[in-house]
Amino acid sequence: MKRATGTTRIHNGKLIDGTGAPPAPDATVILTDGTITYAGPSLLAPAAPDARVIDAQGGTIMPGLIEAHIHLTYFNVTELQDLDIKYPVEYVTLQSAVNAKTALECGYTSARSGGCLHNIDVWMKKAIEEDMIPGPRLSASGREICGAGGLMDWNPDYRKIGMEGIVFIVNGPDEARTAVRKLVKDGIEWVKTYPTGDAASPDINDHHTLCMTFDEMHAVVQTAHNHGLKVTGHCRATEGIRNALRAGYDCIEHGTFMDDECLELLLRRKVPMCPGLGFELWSVQRGKEFGLSQRVIDGHQETLEGGAESCRKVLKTGGTLGLGGDYGFGWTPHGTYAQELTFFVNYVGFSVLDTIRCATLGGAKIMGRDHELGTLERGKLADILLVDGDVMNDISLLENRHNLLAVMQGGVIKAGRLAHV
Ligand SMILES: [Zn+2]
Repeated sequence: MKRATGTTRIHNGKLIDGTGAPPAPDATVILTDGTITYAGPSLLAPAAPDARVIDAQGGTIMPGLIEAHIHLTYFNVTELQDLDIKYPVEYVTLQSAVNAKTALECGYTSARSGGCLHNIDVWMKKAIEEDMIPGPRLSASGREICGAGGLMDWNPDYRKIGMEGIVFIVNGPDEARTAVRKLVKDGIEWVKTYPTGDAASPDINDHHTLCMTFDEMHAVVQTAHNHGLKVTGHCRATEGIRNALRAGYDCIEHGTFMDDECLELLLRRKVPMCPGLGFELWSVQRGKEFGLSQRVIDGHQETLEGGAESCRKVLKTGGTLGLGGDYGFGWTPHGTYAQELTFFVNYVGFSVLDTIRCATLGGAKIMGRDHELGTLERGKLADILLVDGDVMNDISLLENRHNLLAVMQGGVIKAGRLAHV
C-alpha cells in the first residue's frame, strides 16, 4: 500500500491516541513519509516549517478503527443458509470489494477476517495492498472448519449440496489436519474454527453445544502452528472456550460463557478475545421483523447477557479485547460497524477511552501488528481518523461516516470530507 511522501502537520484537534491515555485537548500530529513522527500537545510539537497543513477543525484526531472480526463475504444474511448457496463466487467477490470500500469509508483502516467464502479475503488483501481497490489492511482467514453435524453443517445429505465454498466439515483429527493443510496452501493467516454452536441453531447446535472435539481442535492447532498460522474459534459454551484455550488457540471469538477457570487460562496465556457482541442485542431487538423464532431470540438474549459479563471480567482483569464482529446480516448491514463502540459504552458499560483502545490497539494486537498499527505514537503508520466533533463526548459520532473529515492510511487521505478537496 502506497504511503504519503513528505511531511504533514495535523493541528487544531483533540488527540485520543488509542493507548488509553487521557486525551490531549489541543494536539498536533506530524507525519513524514506516512509514518508518525510526533503526536501530542501542540505546545511541545517540533517545528515543521515545510509541512503540508491539515486543519482538524477543532474535532477529534484518533487512530483508524480496526474491525477485529469482519466477514467481507456476508451481505444481507438473514439465515445461515444465506451464507453458502445464495450467490455464485463471482457475485460474492464483487460484493466483498464493495464491503471493503464501505469499511474504509466508515473509518476502518484495518480488519481481521473472521472467515469468508471460498478464498476471497486472501485475494482481497492482495488487491488492497496493491492499491487496486480501497479497503482496510487485512488479515485473511479463508474457509472455516467445523465438525460434522456441527453449527456450519446445515445442508441435509439428500440435497447433495456440499459446503466446499464456506467450510471444511471434518470428522476426527486426521480430517482436521487435512483441512488446515489446504488452508496453508490457500495463503491464509488465521484458521477459523467452530468449537461450539450458537443461538442461531436452537434445535441441534445451540450456544451450549460443542461442534468439535478437543482432539480435532488440537490437531488444527498443531498443524497450523507448524506452518506459522494462527488459530481462532467461535466459542460460546464454557467447555468450548476451555478446550480452545487448552488446545493452544491464539484468539477466542465471542468467549460468551467464560467461567473463572477459562478467564485464568486466557490471562495466563495472554490470549486476546473478540466478543462481537453487539450482534446479539440487535438480534434481540430486530429479530422478529426478520423472522427469527422466539427460541432463537431468547438464545441471543442469554448470549448477550453472558457475553457482556465476560467482557467486563476480561477488561477488569487486564485482558486484551478487540472490537467488531459479524456485520453483514440483514439487521446489521455493512457500514454499521461503529455501532459496536456505542454499544460497548452504553450497554456493556465500558468507558469511551477503554472502548476506543479496544477498537484500535486491541485489534492491532489480534492482528499481530501493534508495533505499527493501533495507536498514534511516534514510529507507527499514519492510519488516522479526523472526526468532526468531540468523540469523548459522544462516541456515536463514529457511526455516521459523514462525520469523518479524513480517513488516512499511511498518511494518504482515502475517504472523508477532505478526500476530494
Ligand atoms: Zn463471525
